[in-house]
Amino acid sequence: AEAQTRDRAVLGFTEEVRSRATRRVELERDLRHALENDGFELYLQPKFHAATHRLTGAEALLRWRHPQRGMVSPAEFIPVLEETGLIVEAGAWVRRHALKVCQRWRELGSFGLRLAVNVSPRELRQLNFITECEQLLAPFGGDHDLDIEITESMLMDDIAHSIMVLQALRDLGCRVAIDDFGTGYSSLNYLSRLPADALKIDQSFVALLALSPDTLSLVTNIIGLAHSLGLKVVAEGVEEEEQAKLLRLLRCDEMQGYFFGRPVPQAQFEETWLH
Ligand code: C2E
Ligand code: MG
Ligand code: MG
Ligand code: MG
Repeated sequence: AEAQTRDRAVLGFTEEVRSRATRRVELERDLRHALENDGFELYLQPKFHAATHRLTGAEALLRWRHPQRGMVSPAEFIPVLEETGLIVEAGAWVRRHALKVCQRWRELGSFGLRLAVNVSPRELRQLNFITECEQLLAPFGGDHDLDIEITESMLMDDIAHSIMVLQALRDLGCRVAIDDFGTGYSSLNYLSRLPADALKIDQSFVALLALSPDTLSLVTNIIGLAHSLGLKVVAEGVEEEEQAKLLRLLRCDEMQGYFFGRPVPQAQFEETWLH
């Protein structure tokens, strides 16, 4: 009887693995289809100057509207894009599309607004990543408004390579932000060597800012550290006025979050923020 129970458990496990694998194959197939059929969208979330609340630009966030399942969150499909290697193609689409968006903003007369895209660790390691960015951006000779955000946690995996790629991006005229700062384990030594322009304080810290004295002092120190390294500081996930007030007092440079504006489709962004 014991053996039977065990066999059933093993069978159940096998079933579970099989159906998960099936779901994965379906997701991959649908993502591939979306890539080939213009199935992705970029949502835009505004960023503001902390001291004046003036609009400084936006972050582009990838969205996928699945024909049956509706809007799928990046937390679910970005890992699949990464594991399948499809992120290379998706990332290139994001950058091409974002560049068109900021060119349009120039045409509308909104000069000086920057648009940042996220780049995944997997793309950064890709040999032709910089070549692709060069092909896209070199024609502008640095005169464009496209910026890059890269998650802190992976930059330190191969610090020499990261330095090389970030510097190449800056040479192409992109400003580079270290995203989700505080969630990785950067040593100060490495942080000071990264060719970056800004550091984005992870939203988990912003959420605790007004509640935890420890977090308040941590964020105070992160901002001081960033400024001493010549980096601008952007706070993400600002949801409440009190957080915005504190961040301004702490000399945070820019803010982004639901309190100021959610990520929205391009048309809605332009209607709301550009006039
Ligand atoms: P991220 O780059 O740190 O982006 C910030 C995330 O926080 C976004 O989630 C945004 O919608 C959300 N957010 C903004 N303000 C608030 C707020 O006030 N409160 C809360 N709770 N959340 C807020 P989203 O769009 O779901 O994206 C999640 C992550 O997926 C991004 O984190 C980024 O790492 C990744 N991602 C999104 N688009 C792309 C892309 O085009 N390429 C790559 N490689 N990754 C992307
Ligand atoms: Mg980001
Ligand atoms: Mg972030
Ligand atoms: Mg994040």
